[in-house]
Amino acid sequence: MNDIAPPGIRFRTEAEKVEAPTPRAQDALAAPQGGVFPLGRPDEKVEAPTPRAQDALAAPQGGVFPLGRPDEKKARHEGNKLTKRLARETTRALSDYNMIEAGDRVMVCLSGGKDSYAMLDILLQLQKRAPFPFELIAVNLDQKQPGFPADILPRYLTELGVPFHIETQDTYSIVTRVLEEGKTMCSLCSRLRRGILYRVASELGATKIALGHHRDDILGTFFLNLFYGGKAKGMPPKLVSDDGRHTVIRPLAYVPETDLIAYAELKQFPIIPCNLCGSQENLKRKEVGRMIKEWDKQHPGRSWNVFNALSRVVPSHLMDRNLFDFVGLKPSGVPDANGDTAFDTVDPTEGDDACGDTAAPPAQAPDGIVEKKVMFRRG
Ligand code: SF4
Repeated sequence: MNDIAPPGIRFRTEAEKVEAPTPRAQDALAAPQGGVFPLGRPDEKVEAPTPRAQDALAAPQGGVFPLGRPDEKKARHEGNKLTKRLARETTRALSDYNMIEAGDRVMVCLSGGKDSYAMLDILLQLQKRAPFPFELIAVNLDQKQPGFPADILPRYLTELGVPFHIETQDTYSIVTRVLEEGKTMCSLCSRLRRGILYRVASELGATKIALGHHRDDILGTFFLNLFYGGKAKGMPPKLVSDDGRHTVIRPLAYVPETDLIAYAELKQFPIIPCNLCGSQENLKRKEVGRMIKEWDKQHPGRSWNVFNALSRVVPSHLMDRNLFDFVGLKPSGVPDANGDTAFDTVDPTEGDDACGDTAAPPAQAPDGIVEKKVMFRRG
């Protein structure tokens, strides 16, 4: 070859030829400390097809589904239904118990759990379309439990643009100092918390204190009192504090827990775990909760019937002499169309099983279950 090379030029001989470095060898040279990029060259990487691209491949004649993936559409539809149901049930409870009035300043207690996140979210939606003005202020009590992520709620609330206050009180140290190790801390802890929240409500000028308890909390408390306390007593949707100074409301009183679980999933709330204090959950409450869940699986409607019964109490057919004057009871001689039928029978409109398990469908039930009777005043 060099025979024909122009003057001053010399071609490499066969032995002198050098193979061009492979891409990987180039990486080896370029990579830090002469190592190779462990996951292949960046330009070799292939992006996973997006769901829409997958649709394009799967759709007939290579076209795309015009309205998004069918499962996305269904999920969106279910999400909308759930959001509407929660707003509707919360509105109904607010209206039935006159929970929020014009000019109220509502302190929304936020623990970082699914229920209080949902309550704030729904109240914010309702505030926008309420026929009267009211204020919302979110309040979290940082009890200084070990590992409590103190930054999550302030960040979330700032992004949401809602006024908020974080109250820091080390009740954890008090509870662990006062109680012997292994003793359940919840009773003292919640009493301390309640006292602090009442004080904060006064300082903030709040006229209502909203708690995120739901239908299953109300039912659970009722059964706990019934089974272990010998009392027909529940957890009211609205109450005045023992010192007579504060009104406590429970806007989620009609909402079943399953809906709140689904809503937290839908909205991806930044949930803070509730077991940071290391306290054992109340075992009796757990047992009652399991019983209600089991009923909901095996006997749909039963827990709703019990729940509805809480707002349809007939004192003359119970035994509480403080509620009904049995002692002074005498025939008046005047017929009472709504009075006793003399001998209790099973109401034929309520199903034919005296044990009650095949009773009428729930008056208040999730969408999809027939609503046979309207027992609550519609707001
Ligand atoms: S679980 Fe922990 S934070 Fe909650 S009430 Fe009990 S002791 Fe207090």
